[in-house]
Amino acid sequence: MSQLAEQTEPQSSGADQAAGGLELRGLTKQFAAFTAVDDLDLDVPTGSFFALLGPSGCGKTTTLRMVAGLETPTSGTIRLGKRDITFDRPYRRPVNTVFQNYALFPHLDIFENVAFGLRRQKKKNVDELVQSMLELVELTSQTRKRPAQLSGGQQQRVALARALINKPEVLLLDEPLGALDLKLRRGMQIELKRIQDEVGITFIHVTHDQEEAMTMADTIAVMNAGVIEQMGAPDDLYENPRTTFVANFLGQSNLIDGQIKSRSGDLVTVGMHGIDVSVTAARSHADGDRGWIGIRPEKVLIGDEGEALDAPGNTVPGGVVTDVSFVGVSTQYLVRMPWGQELQVFEQNTGRRRIFRVGDKVELSWRPEYAFLLDHEQDASAGAQLDDE
Ligand code: ATP
Repeated sequence: MSQLAEQTEPQSSGADQAAGGLELRGLTKQFAAFTAVDDLDLDVPTGSFFALLGPSGCGKTTTLRMVAGLETPTSGTIRLGKRDITFDRPYRRPVNTVFQNYALFPHLDIFENVAFGLRRQKKKNVDELVQSMLELVELTSQTRKRPAQLSGGQQQRVALARALINKPEVLLLDEPLGALDLKLRRGMQIELKRIQDEVGITFIHVTHDQEEAMTMADTIAVMNAGVIEQMGAPDDLYENPRTTFVANFLGQSNLIDGQIKSRSGDLVTVGMHGIDVSVTAARSHADGDRGWIGIRPEKVLIGDEGEALDAPGNTVPGGVVTDVSFVGVSTQYLVRMPWGQELQVFEQNTGRRRIFRVGDKVELSWRPEYAFLLDHEQDASAGAQLDDE
């Protein structure tokens, strides 16, 4: 174990507790008649980088605040390993929070900001511990500056160092990169991941930015209106969404009305406006006789009418290009299908194929294993256009 890992190893509870993760059961928070968090069950394994992802107002921050002890649950329990911490005072929990606004002490320099908690606890080796924390967040050359003399990204690192030096079992991050500009944010995402990897502490990261969650987290819980819609590894959520909300909120999806014709073995055959397409059983989440056939825009191939495309299985003729957006790495098309719906197609700009123009007649195609099928009872537009908030 590295010196840093050793120094940041949780001390506030026994080894038994460190072995267990964070467990939320039936967690509910009501503000008067409004239910912000609704009967939430969640398990966060020790040492994971976990993201709570959802649109504004879905209850992410309230969940985090209940874990931190800043909000009292209306009902339900919060356990950390074997210990029930539901009603523990915030300072008694082995949990620390990094907020979006950093909350640094403006009158103290960087070193003293990081040292603050240790000095209050009258800890020994303060200088050594602060120095190693500043090394971890790569701020050793700035130690005598005040927060106002640092960039937003550097202030964020100080806030992180100050939270980690208390050796929490769980670090809560509430939109920690929200105040940074896009380029800095991307850099900090990689930094945060490296730091989490190095210290091995459980990170719970709240964000409404799906790209941020996917870049950093091992596990994402997608939250909507106080409940978890789906939880899993980023690629699993993206490739195999179980609800229209997840399909639309995490990236973009074409959702097409389909009539389920047969289910046999690994394949489900679905009638799509007169064309039969297939979906694998593992990605079919519709019980009735109708469903939304889902296909991601980058999984759709576009070609001239009658062109043999490399996607055996699902070929859909009769499209007309209605919009072309050149975005550098890819070209994004809107294609009007014979049934009137416009489908999105993203094609990588490899330079090997010509770019289609508005009005071109095209054929679309995709491999059955890339499609998914969702329950038709759901609103096909749920979760769309919410991630830009
Ligand atoms: P954001 O990303 O905008 O912070 P969020 O998902 O973190 O959103 P919460 O802050 O958890 O959402 O809020 C969930 C809902 O609970 C919102 O509708 C909010 O208005 C409401 N809410 C939060 N705190 C209170 C409070 N103290 N009193 C009344 N309503 C509250």
